Order: sequence, then C-alpha cells, then structure tokens
Amino acid sequence: MGETNSHRAQGAGDADRRIGRRALLIGGTAAAAGTAALAWDEMSRMWWRMPGMEKPRKMGEVDFQGAGWVAASSANLRTADRPDDYGIDRVIIHVTQGSFDSAVKVFQDPRHGAATHYIVRKDGYVAQMIRELDVAFHAGNRDYNERSIGIEHEGFVDKPEDFTDAMYEASARVTARVCARYKIPVDRKHIIGHVEVPGTDHTDPGPGWDWDRYIPLVRQARTAKA
Ligand SMILES: [Zn+2]
Repeated sequence: MGETNSHRAQGAGDADRRIGRRALLIGGTAAAAGTAALAWDEMSRMWWRMPGMEKPRKMGEVDFQGAGWVAASSANLRTADRPDDYGIDRVIIHVTQGSFDSAVKVFQDPRHGAATHYIVRKDGYVAQMIRELDVAFHAGNRDYNERSIGIEHEGFVDKPEDFTDAMYEASARVTARVCARYKIPVDRKHIIGHVEVPGTDHTDPGPGWDWDRYIPLVRQARTAKA
C-alpha cells in the first residue's frame, strides 16, 4: 500500500511539472513574438495531455492488434485519460465462471456494474470491450481499478482444463503488449490474480491457473515484440 501512495504521488508530480512548463511557455508569449509561435506549436501538440481533457478516440479502435471490439456498457467503466491521469502498473487476471458469450453479455449489461478491458476465449480469440485509457470496474477496489488492465479468461476456476494452450498464449501476448506500453515489469508483483486484490472476495483465477507457465510466456512474447 505504501508503494501505491508513492506511485500516485509521483504521477501527480509529473502532471504538475507539465502544467508548470506550459504556463511558462504561455507566459513567454507575452514577452516575445518568436516564443509565441513556439508556445502555440507546443500547446497544439500537448493539449490532450492536459488534465481533464479526453484523448481523441475512434469508435471500434482497439489497443491490442487483432482484438475484436465489442463495447461494454458505459455503466461498467469510467472514462479517463490513462496513463496521464492514473499510471498503469498492474495487469489483473480473471476467470469468467461461464462462457465467453455470457461474459460479453453481462459486460454489455449496465446493471452488471463490472467489466474488464479484455476477454480471452478458449480458442485464443481476444475481445476488447473497454479502451485501456478508461478505468474498467473489475477489481472490486477503486485504486486497483484505476491502476490496472483487467483480462478475463473463459472458463471456471475449478476446471483448469478450460485454460487451453491457445488461451495462455493469446493472453500472454495481450499482457506483454500492456507491459511494454506502460513499462510494467513482467513479474508476479505486477501481474496478479483477482484473488490478490486487497479487499476482494473473489477467488479467480484459482489454483488451476498455471502462473509458472504464464509468466514465462509473457516474457517470451515481450521479447519477441521488442
Ligand atoms: Zn475476477
């Protein structure tokens, strides 16, 4: 938890520095015409980094190449500007306790109140339902929701045979891309199960999830992409 606070504090400091620099540039416009042109150029490139600004997003755009887009209900997420407003430093692994189709259906249901960024099917197909810049309600812990990417896996915690080779490999590729994008170390401290989130009463992905297999697969995918 101490690490949580220092991480958040550090993020806020960076944001403040950016604002400070911009303010300085805007101030400079009054002083010199040449500086004004430079400041405007800087502003136009940086506007989307300003706190509270929504990044441009296109309908159907995905963060993981190859994923199919199916939008979750907006009630199951909070629009955000990650990683600028909240740093991303965790991947949280879930198991659906049902079929892929039933998971997609409940994430589209505004009454469900929860959804993850990705769902991985047994055959290795990946659906993205929430953009990575948005906060998905999946961890049952506000801080962990804000700092993480959630990945669901089709199957049941007490049926490890549901976790197919294709699923492990596809999921490892998604996690590897997330780790590369946000510079998250590939280890068990940063890639965790839902069960490890403080305060949760969920048990997924369960003892059947093969971490000793999954983490090396993520490392492999991470190296292959680099
Ligand atoms: Zn879960």
